[in-house]
Amino acid sequence: VSEEESIDGAGIESTEVTRERVLERIREDSRFVLAAHEGPDGDALGSLVAMQGLLTALGKDSRMFIAPEDLPLPYEYRFFALDGLIQAPPADIPQRTVVFLDCGNIDRNSAIVLQEGKHLLNIDHHHDNTRFGTVDHVVPDASCTAEIVWDLMHGLGVRPTPVLARALYVGLITDTGRFMYENTGPRAHEMAADLIGAGVDVQDVYRRLYEEMPPAKLALLALALSQIQRFDSGELTLAALSAEDFQHASAQDSYSEGIIDHLRSIQGTKVAALVRELSDSERGSGRRKVSLRATDDDVDVSLIAREQGGGGHRRAAGFTTTLELEPLIAFLRGAIAAQLHPAPAPA
Ligand code: 5GP
Ligand code: MN
Repeated sequence: VSEEESIDGAGIESTEVTRERVLERIREDSRFVLAAHEGPDGDALGSLVAMQGLLTALGKDSRMFIAPEDLPLPYEYRFFALDGLIQAPPADIPQRTVVFLDCGNIDRNSAIVLQEGKHLLNIDHHHDNTRFGTVDHVVPDASCTAEIVWDLMHGLGVRPTPVLARALYVGLITDTGRFMYENTGPRAHEMAADLIGAGVDVQDVYRRLYEEMPPAKLALLALALSQIQRFDSGELTLAALSAEDFQHASAQDSYSEGIIDHLRSIQGTKVAALVRELSDSERGSGRRKVSLRATDDDVDVSLIAREQGGGGHRRAAGFTTTLELEPLIAFLRGAIAAQLHPAPAPA
């Protein structure tokens, strides 16, 4: 493939080309650091742990980096063995290849020094990825970043251990909403079949992720459900959790995970929004984290998130804001209406 053929209209290399470039770096380089986005979710962590297993299987020196403010991990992910985890970037960063996983833009990782790596491999599936790497392997069609890692694993001829397979499976089921979201295609199920064949204990993973729930998590859900607000004939369904709500429920910040799926499920909803005040421990009191979900393609929530400096997928996106609740809701209503009911162009 010539250089010109490999570049599409937007000046972006095809994923066949970027895949080869990633494989080449993994084969040739010997020292790596792995990082994911802040507040890592199942896909970020699964991809991280799987990539670590993959590089270790190839005899490479690889370190997983997670910032201290993201530790300990949310309870449902604590089964991941993070052997050799580092909480500060190593001194030899300029000699290491840094692999960013599931990280749509560089601001989503707080360790700026990671950008000084010898090579930056940006492996992700967010369509709005800002392409900050020296190699940008961005596959928007992939259901999850773990699916891209799974593909690289096969490209490198690595046979997954049960632990590696389980890490990939966690990324797959969390990002597809257990095979229910629109990103669930044949490949997602092929990947599942491959991983189960490699030793994943499906029910064990399910119990770890979705059961064994701390009662405080259910208490927080109850608080959220008791204060649902609906706007514009229910097109926007929203719940806002304050720092006091978290205190009342004795809930940790990560316990809000999953609440938004309940909001989206309410009849008539086009967009679901969960707003939560960030506690001091999440660095930045007075700031709010906003999660957005769309029920169909009529609203692209990643556009709305991007207006506020965030991003994500068409049907799942988020941002952090200093807006107070009232102006925030006004902004969301306006942004949703602009997509659902665009004003006719002036004559
Ligand atoms: P969640 O609402 O579960 O935190 O995130 C949903 C999706 O939006 C994920 O794909 C996540 O990567 C993306 N997302 C959430 N918050 C942010 C943010 O602050 N910035 C960007 N760029 N993406 C975000
Ligand atoms: Mn993901």
